[in-house]
Amino acid sequence: MELNYNSAAELRAFLDKNGLGMRKKFGQNFLLNPAVRESLVRALEAEAGDAVWEIGPGLGAMTSLLLEKGLAVRAFELDAGFARTLRELFAGNADFTLVEGDVLKTWTAEPPAPYLLGNLPYNIAAVLLAGFIEQGRFFKRIVVTVQREVALRMAAVPGSADYSSFSVVCASAYRVKLLMIIKSASFYPRPNVDSQAVLLELREDAAHKRPACFYPLVRRLFSSRRKTIKNNLTGFFSPERGAPAAMALEALEKSALDGNKRAEDLTLEDFAALAKTIEDMGI
Ligand code: SAM
Repeated sequence: MELNYNSAAELRAFLDKNGLGMRKKFGQNFLLNPAVRESLVRALEAEAGDAVWEIGPGLGAMTSLLLEKGLAVRAFELDAGFARTLRELFAGNADFTLVEGDVLKTWTAEPPAPYLLGNLPYNIAAVLLAGFIEQGRFFKRIVVTVQREVALRMAAVPGSADYSSFSVVCASAYRVKLLMIIKSASFYPRPNVDSQAVLLELREDAAHKRPACFYPLVRRLFSSRRKTIKNNLTGFFSPERGAPAAMALEALEKSALDGNKRAEDLTLEDFAALAKTIEDMGI
C-alpha cells in the first residue's frame, strides 16, 4: 500500500475508500508539504538507530520519513482507523511500534527515548508537553508543530504579553527556539489558524530535581495575572497549604523578591529561588 501524503485529493480518496473519517475533536490535520516535513525531521538531528517517539502519526506521513532515516519509532495514535492503517503500512518493520490510545494515558508505561517529534493535536499540545516536564520525562530534543499562539507562549520571555506559566514550565527544562511558521494552507483540512514548529533542547540542569512546590507555585502565581505576587502567594500559603499568610511575606523577603511585582515580571531563576525558600521553610 502506497500513500501520496502530498495530495489532499488522494488522502481524501484513501479515507473514503477505507471508510475512515476525519475527526475535528482529535485535531486531525495532515501536513501536505513535503519540504516542511523533511525540515522538521532534520531539525530533530537524530541519527540512524536512535529511538524517537512520534505523537499523533495520523496516516504516517512523518512516520515513514523517520523510518526511512533508520530511526526506531514509537508512535502514539488515538484514532482506531488510523491505527489500523499504520499497522498495515508498516507491518513487518521491526523499527515501528504502535501505541494505540490516548497518549496522555499511555505514555507513562512506555520506555523513554531521547527524541520526540509530533504535529500535535491542538487540544492536548500544552497539557502533554507540561505533563512530560512535570513528571520528569525528558527528551534530548523535541520538535513539535503547534498552533502559532501556543508556540509564542512556549518561547515567551518575562515582561511580554505571551509570558505564562507554560512559558516557565518549558523554560524550566528546555531552551525553546521558534522554527518556521507553517501556513494553514499546508494542511488538509485547513485549520483556522497558522501553526509554528518549535524546537526544545534539553538544558544541562534539567534533570536536577526541582522542589515539589515549584510547578504548583508557578501556576498559582500566574493564576490571577493582574494580582501582585504577594497577593497570589498569600493564597498559596493559606488556605491552600495551611501555612500562616504572614509567612508568604517572609518567603518573599528571604528570596529577595519585591512582592509588588507580578508573575509576568519574574524570571525562571526568581521562581526557582522562591520555590527553594518555600521548601527550606518546610511548607
Ligand atoms: N502526523 C500527521 C501529519 O503530520 O500529517 C497527523 C497530525 S494531526 C495534527 C494529529 C494526530 O494526533 C491525528 O492523527 C490524531 O488522530 C492524533 N491524536 C489526537 N489526539 C490524540 C491523543 N490524545 N493521543 C494520541 N493521538 C492523538
